[in-house]
Amino acid sequence: MTLLRPLLLHYFITFRCNCRCSFCDIWNADRYDQTIFADIKDVEQNLIEAKKLGVKFVDFTGGEPLLHPHIRTFLKLARKLGYRTSVTTNCLLYPQIAESIKGQVDFLHFSLDSLIESQHDEIRNKKAFVSVLTSIDTARALGEKPDLLFTVTDINVKQTGPLSELAKRLGLLLLVNPVFTNSRGLEISLQNLKFLERFQYKPYVYINKAFHRLRGNGGNSIQKPRCRAVDSTLVISPDNHLLLPCFHFCQIKKAINGDLSGIYNSEKLREYKNRQGRFDFCERCMLNCYFDPSFVYKCDVYFLESLFAKARYVYYKHIRRMADSLFGRLENRPALQIVKEINSKYFPENS
Ligand code: SF4
Ligand code: SF4
Repeated sequence: MTLLRPLLLHYFITFRCNCRCSFCDIWNADRYDQTIFADIKDVEQNLIEAKKLGVKFVDFTGGEPLLHPHIRTFLKLARKLGYRTSVTTNCLLYPQIAESIKGQVDFLHFSLDSLIESQHDEIRNKKAFVSVLTSIDTARALGEKPDLLFTVTDINVKQTGPLSELAKRLGLLLLVNPVFTNSRGLEISLQNLKFLERFQYKPYVYINKAFHRLRGNGGNSIQKPRCRAVDSTLVISPDNHLLLPCFHFCQIKKAINGDLSGIYNSEKLREYKNRQGRFDFCERCMLNCYFDPSFVYKCDVYFLESLFAKARYVYYKHIRRMADSLFGRLENRPALQIVKEINSKYFPENS
């Protein structure tokens, strides 16, 4: 099965960030300090053009996307154009702007790496834990359904149990996101991936086995590439360039200058489509954010496992949650109270 149209737009609206996460390369790169915010006119124009190209999902990303002064406008426009929107935030700013973006984000992700405050804050290199819990309470009070995005490394893998219990008690999805190898050397072993799989069928836990299979197979193979980064995903930088073939291994930046369609239909883009997953640096690649949409572009075991994970996501997010809410099975107390209870159950020595 081949889809000719891209599904997803990764729109980097800023590279600035107010966190310093231990597994992230973005804040560490000198070139990203003090970079510009995406221009409002460029974003409007690109959203309109990308829609014509068939894009269905737009992920406003960064850096920390909520730092952008026009994030509200971008979300409103994207929704008006018919996109499904997503935002992942470290939550430091969310409580302040929650009301103004209410109902505008289809997939709102709060990064939460541990229920132990000191561990989460150490991973994020910022006192962010309390903001995440405040954000959960704020979002729920507004009727939002944020997902909890758990980036797992060998260091915090044992938090899977406590976090999945929090997710179940709140009726929020826990997205288990194995870290991908980066320049900062944080990893997750195959043994710990196996440990994660014990939680695969727990309620409200999203684990995409296709990622685990890819890792077990040693990542992307340049002989038989599974990556469809260029087919599936448009990547735009804050300074209005299309990045090819992907953000992390960008080889060429094409200035958009109001003509996203022209670039998309160019010979250069065709060349990159032919080479996606085949560059030397693509060997062993396992960048989740590109493989997730890539799995849709070929009917094989990755496609089926990914589809299964997404079906579970939809079930828990929309059906099971409604039932649990109707039957009073979800907790309405502040997240901090619940976290304290869970911690005293899992880590009684600390309570
Ligand atoms: S919040 Fe996101 S962009 Fe910022 S340092 Fe952490 S992982 Fe990187
Ligand atoms: S395999 Fe990885 S590095 Fe290569 S194009 Fe795909 S996402 Fe980029």
